[in-house]
Amino acid sequence: MTVDSGLPPQAAPPPCEKDAKALRFIEDMTRNCDFVQVKVLEEILSRNAETEYLKRHRLKGRTDRETFKARVPVITYDDIQPEIQRIANGDFSPILSAQRISEFLTSSGTSAGERKLMPTIQEELDRRQLLYSLLMPVMNQYMPGLDKGKALYFLFVKAETRTPGGLVARPVLTSYYKSKHFMNRPYDPYNVMTSPNDAVLCPDSFQSMYAQMLCGLYQRLDVLRVGAVFASGLLRAIRFLQLHYPNLCLDIESGTLSQEITDPLVRACVSGFLKPNPELAEFIRSECIKESWESIITRIWPNTKYLEVIVTGAMAQYISILDYYSGGLPKACTMYASSECYFGVNLRPLCKPSEVSYTIMPNMAYFEFIPLDSAGSVSSRSAAPPHLVDLADVEVGKEYELVITTYAGLYRYRVGDVLYVTGFHNSAPQFRFVRRKNVLLSIDSDKTDESELQRAVDNAAALLSRFDAGIVEYTSYADTKTIPGHYVVYLELMVKDAGNSPSHEVLNLCCLAMEESLNSVYRQGRVADSSIGPLEIRVVRNGTFEELMDYAISRGASINQYKVPRCVNFMPIVELLDSRVISAHFSPSLPHWSPERRL
Ligand code: AMP
Repeated sequence: MTVDSGLPPQAAPPPCEKDAKALRFIEDMTRNCDFVQVKVLEEILSRNAETEYLKRHRLKGRTDRETFKARVPVITYDDIQPEIQRIANGDFSPILSAQRISEFLTSSGTSAGERKLMPTIQEELDRRQLLYSLLMPVMNQYMPGLDKGKALYFLFVKAETRTPGGLVARPVLTSYYKSKHFMNRPYDPYNVMTSPNDAVLCPDSFQSMYAQMLCGLYQRLDVLRVGAVFASGLLRAIRFLQLHYPNLCLDIESGTLSQEITDPLVRACVSGFLKPNPELAEFIRSECIKESWESIITRIWPNTKYLEVIVTGAMAQYISILDYYSGGLPKACTMYASSECYFGVNLRPLCKPSEVSYTIMPNMAYFEFIPLDSAGSVSSRSAAPPHLVDLADVEVGKEYELVITTYAGLYRYRVGDVLYVTGFHNSAPQFRFVRRKNVLLSIDSDKTDESELQRAVDNAAALLSRFDAGIVEYTSYADTKTIPGHYVVYLELMVKDAGNSPSHEVLNLCCLAMEESLNSVYRQGRVADSSIGPLEIRVVRNGTFEELMDYAISRGASINQYKVPRCVNFMPIVELLDSRVISAHFSPSLPHWSPERRL
C-alpha cells in the first residue's frame, strides 16, 4: 500500500506563484476529502431541491448523506432517458437541474446505438477549467523547463448537432475547445501550443490535421512535448505524416499552402508560418523516406521530452507502438475525465503506464463506489442492493464501480468504469483505471459491447442465409497493428451447397452489413474521423472453434462451463485463429453516418 503524505517525492518546488497556488489547492482538497464531499453533496442537493427529480424521490430539501442514500436510487442512463428526452425536446422546467441546461455533451458511450446525451450547465466549464489548470503545475514539478518551448498537441473538434428543443449536442472536448476558457486563455509560458486555435477548431479533420502538422513541422525545434488526448489520436497523426509528408514538404519548400486546404480561417492562421524553407523540407523528406520509422518523433522533433497521451484503459494496447515511434519516451497520462464529469488528475504524470493512478478531486462531484468482488461482479451477499462506499472510505486493493452525483443533475449515476484503489494522497484515494464495463472492442473512442457485436453478426448471417450458409461460431479481435486499427471478426461457416458458397464479394458485403449495424460512435470513427479502418472478416476452417475450446480446457477451463469468448486478446489464441484462416475480407465502402441523431 502506498500512502502519500504531502507532495510526492522527487518533486521540484513550483516554479511560479500560479503553480504554487494550484498545488496548494490539490493539498487542500485531498487533505479534506470527506469534508469537501459532504459540502459538495449539500450544495448539489440544496440548489436542486425544487427539481422534479429530487421531489419525486421525496428528498424534501434534505441534504444529508443518509437521507440521500436512503431515498435516491442508483441509476443508469436508461433510467433517466425519459427526462433527458424531455429536456432535448425543449422542456426547460427544472427537471434534473435547477440551473438551465446549457447544452448536451454527447458521450462515446451509447444507448440504442446513439451517443448518450449528458446534460450540462454553464458553470461546469469552470469546474473543468479548474481541473485543467492543475495539470501543468503538477507536471512542472517533474519536468522543469517546459516554459522554454512549446507543445505539439493534435486537438480536434467533432460535428455538433441540435436537439429538437434547440440545445447544442456535441462532445465535451468540442464544447471546451470552442469555449472562451480555451479560446481566450491567458498566455502561459508553460503551456504554449504550436497549433493555432483556428486549426484546432476546423471541423474538417483532414484540414485541421494538415494545418496542425504543418505548424508543428515549422516549429520542430521548439517542440518539447508531443501529444493528443488519446494514444490512438497521436498514432493517427503519425500515420497522417506518413501519407502526406510529400505534400507537406512541397508546401514548406515553396512557402505556399496546398489547394486542398480550403477553409479560409485555416489558410489565414497558417499563413504566418509559411515561408519557403527548402532546407527544412529536405530534412523532413529525408527522414520520412527512410524505410524504418523507428523513433520518428524524436528524429523530427528532437527536443521532445515526453509524450502526453492517455495510455490507460483501452488505450494500453498502443503502448508498444508509441514506444517504437518515440524511442521509448515517457508517456504522461495526466487526467481522467468523462462527459458526465471530470474526475481527477495523475499526481505522478511521468510514472510508468502500468503504475498510473488518478486522484479523484473531491470538489468535482459527489462520488460513491459500488464494491465489486474478485470476479468483477457487484458484491452483495443478499438480494438487497449493495452498500455504496464513500470516496474517503474506499479500501486499498479493492475494485469498485464509480457512481456520481453532479452539479448538472445526475444523481447516483453509474458511469460504467471499474477502478482499483492503489493508495491515498492525503485522505483522497488514488485509482487505477481497470476497465469499462461491457466493452468488448475499442479502437479509438468507440465502445462496442457484446450485444452490439451479436447484432452485427446476425446481420451478416442474414446475408449469408441467401447462400444456404450459416455462421457456426464467431469471435472478434481489435487489430491495432494497422493504423488506424480495425475490428476483426473470425467466422466459422457452415456451407450446405459447396457449389453455391458465398463469394468473396458477398463476404465483403457482410463486413459492411456488420458496420452498418454498429453504433454511431463507431461509424463516426470510420466516416468522419478516419480513426477506425474497414472491418475485416477472417473465415477460419471448420473445427477451429473446437480447437479453441480444447486449448482453453488444456489451460484449466471447465468443460461444462466453457463459453466461446466473443472477443480474444490473448496472443496465443489470436495466433491459433490466424493460423486457421482460409480467407480474409474487408468492408468495401464506408457505412452510413451523419451528425444527426436518430430520435
Ligand atoms: P466520454 O464520456 O466519451 O468522454 O468517455 C469517458 C470515458 O473514457 C470514461 O468514463 C472512461 O471509460 C474513459 N476514460 C477517460 N479518461 C480515461 C483515462 N485517463 N484512462 C482510461 N480511460 C479513460
